[in-house]
Amino acid sequence: MNLRPTRTPKVKEFVHAPFWACPDCSTEGTFGVLMICDRHYVRRCIHCWFDQRLALPPVKKRIIYLDQFVFSNMMKELDPANVGVVNTGSDGFYLTLFKTLDRLSKLQLIVCPDSPLHDHESVVDTRYEKIRAVFRQLSHDVSFRDPRTMLHAQIMRAFDCWMGGEPCLADSSWDFALTRNPHVWRDRYRIELNCILPGFAAALRTKNIVVTQRLREVCKEWREDPTFSFRETFENELAGHWRQILEQFARYTARFAAVHLGYAPFDDEVCFPPAALVLVTRMMTKLAPTFPNMDERIARIREFFISEHFRAVSGVRISALLWATIARDINAGRKSDRFPKASMYNDIDAVAQYSPFCDAMFVDKEISHFTRQRELQQELAGTALFFSLRKNEKADFIEYLRCIEADAPSEHIQMVEEVYGRDWPTPFVDLLADV
Ligand SMILES: [Zn+2]
Repeated sequence: MNLRPTRTPKVKEFVHAPFWACPDCSTEGTFGVLMICDRHYVRRCIHCWFDQRLALPPVKKRIIYLDQFVFSNMMKELDPANVGVVNTGSDGFYLTLFKTLDRLSKLQLIVCPDSPLHDHESVVDTRYEKIRAVFRQLSHDVSFRDPRTMLHAQIMRAFDCWMGGEPCLADSSWDFALTRNPHVWRDRYRIELNCILPGFAAALRTKNIVVTQRLREVCKEWREDPTFSFRETFENELAGHWRQILEQFARYTARFAAVHLGYAPFDDEVCFPPAALVLVTRMMTKLAPTFPNMDERIARIREFFISEHFRAVSGVRISALLWATIARDINAGRKSDRFPKASMYNDIDAVAQYSPFCDAMFVDKEISHFTRQRELQQELAGTALFFSLRKNEKADFIEYLRCIEADAPSEHIQMVEEVYGRDWPTPFVDLLADV
């Protein structure tokens, strides 16, 4: 038997154009791009396997947040199964938008982060995997953190400043809000992990029905209130945030004590404590050295919740202002068939938590209208630009995006060509061909 020596195969497929002449073996057209790593990239010769690391200049990308309905409609216009069947009524707006965003994303000029809100709103759709493919194409692994986690982190920061007697400044660094640094050169490839908890979509659907029903009752109260006051509603919403935190904490600790003492069965409610428990426990721990008595600690936490430090938490203020603005609109005579649904909570969370970290947001028409009301305009000054399907805003958004490419320095565009090749920015309109 003739046994030939084996050697580790070297995969040429991972080395991409554009190919240069190799600086080591001088072969023409063999020195391609092996990988791109944030602030440098590696070239490799497919003839002699010589590697070279080359630095990349810093990039500062625009952060653009898109509401879930935008991804859902882009999916409909991209899906080959829908051609000639589904009419989104947009005259191709979403397809144009996808092409523009995908090109800008590949030119390393923008990132459209996905978020747990996108996931929760899409997982109840039978076309979830197709919607997910679209938002992941544009986010490229950059995700916003859960809005509740961000809100509690803001509150904890305000609490620390209140305890230390210092003024509270919001954390504006990207890593407070995003899971990865968006301002880097991205690789051609990304690895995805797909996992859906069994029963998750059904549980979300049931929760949405219950929340929508409860919201309708609150809306009726707002509409029928003859002494409605915007200021009072805002104050109630503000206080509602901390009351809910303390209620969840009290309910969980009471339940835990009952289970511990054998008065109640061990169940899911005890297994999965609410986020409020973690927040209040952290506050308690900070107070423990000075206030050994539990009641004293609770009293101090209540003091914090009515302090200016808590009132200054931007996520709480924006959310309370949005709800008060909706309430005012409803009180002015909005019909019950236009009452908000459970998804309004997601829309409000997105603006309240993500807008300070975005350059632009494309949101629901109603939300965009509210952001232009006096009180919110004041609160949101310096955060994102808001766009929606409202008259002129669609065209303004496309124009805003076109200006991003037009304003990019020519050296940056040349560097993109050097690293990724001339064809790279071509929009991936066949994205859903195999999904
Ligand atoms: Zn070589």
